[in-house]
Amino acid sequence: MKTYRIAALAGDGIGPEVMREAILVLRAVEKTFGLGFAITEAPVGWAGIDAAGKALPDDTLSLCKNSDAILFGSVGLPDRDPTLPKEERPERAALLRIRKEFGLFANLRPVQLPKALAHACPLRPERQGDGINVLVVRELTGGMYFGQPKKTETVSEGVRRAIDTMVYTTPEIERIAHVAFKAARLRRKKVTSIDKANVLENGILWREVVARVGKGYPDVSLEHMFVDNGAMQLVLKPTQFDVMLCENMFGDILSDEAAALAGSLGMLPSASLGATSGERTFGFYEPAGGTAPDIAGKNLANPIAQILSSALMLRYSFGETDAAAAIEKAVGVAIRSGLRTGDIYSSSEPQARRAGTREMGAAIAAAIG
Ligand code: NAD
Repeated sequence: MKTYRIAALAGDGIGPEVMREAILVLRAVEKTFGLGFAITEAPVGWAGIDAAGKALPDDTLSLCKNSDAILFGSVGLPDRDPTLPKEERPERAALLRIRKEFGLFANLRPVQLPKALAHACPLRPERQGDGINVLVVRELTGGMYFGQPKKTETVSEGVRRAIDTMVYTTPEIERIAHVAFKAARLRRKKVTSIDKANVLENGILWREVVARVGKGYPDVSLEHMFVDNGAMQLVLKPTQFDVMLCENMFGDILSDEAAALAGSLGMLPSASLGATSGERTFGFYEPAGGTAPDIAGKNLANPIAQILSSALMLRYSFGETDAAAAIEKAVGVAIRSGLRTGDIYSSSEPQARRAGTREMGAAIAAAIG
């Protein structure tokens, strides 16, 4: 039996509630698909600070290093975060540290709007086609956010100047392009590469390198689009996109724009991938939303983002595509049955039934296989 080691770091707020449901679903997958998941839970965020004095305790980090993937909840509590210096706050001390430690350079954000949830989407139904299904692949460690020089200086009396530098090297573009083309092969085989080649040197290099990498994937179609048009097309005709490949800043912006199309943060998973060795890619999987303190501990959170994050883990880190698809299908079954957590509930849907976190998780686990 294939066994995978998973570090499950639930974190704060709704983290433990939604993680519990994701683990329930993974246990159902184990049985149906004959897989073994060695899941070890450990504290992170404020849970880490309370247990061991640090947002990312040493034991938690060691566990991650000895695992095949990290399934993460969310960290941070707005009423407690300001009591710490910025660099010790959970999002920085845990999340950024993990990103750096594991060289997570690729961020994948699938945005899927099932037809049954058309009412949750801000676009008119005729713009939604048969349902929106876009994967934004964002480069995570380069570009303007990290390029040097990066500073604010005084030019003359009363005049200051801020400088950020956009830098990409060919290997950085190549490796993220490979991620996008490989992801497209598991989907509808189309990559739209986003750039600003009409204005930026970076855009010209980006386009050239992506086109070259694309030649190695003749089964995947490639188109190039300027970022301003990409932002517009996402709201005009989102169904034209399969995989959108973006550098760091463009991906930051477009992935949030795309996320808005799904109607609720509670539906959106994400994956951050590091290097591949052999058949396995180390990955970090988390919901797109935060700790939602307004609904924490009340059985109100939507567990779907966390559950779909575990499906991404099966697909991208373990290559268990059938098991991943089974989770996604089970989510569809629960949605079509009318179950709705508060964030996706609408009284205009006649068959909708309000469900708590536990009921939604149990329905999805029951629909596996
Ligand atoms: P948030 O995403 O936690 O909440 C925004 C809104 O979305 C809230 O109304 C919340 O109830 C709702 N929401 C989010 N997830 C939901 C779910 N699964 N089901 C139903 N509703 C859901 O953002 P925020 O309020 O700005 O941040 C709260 C805390 O989370 C802050 O401390 C912030 O720093 C932290 N945060 C952490 C991460 C992370 O760990 N990756 C990401 C974002 C925010």
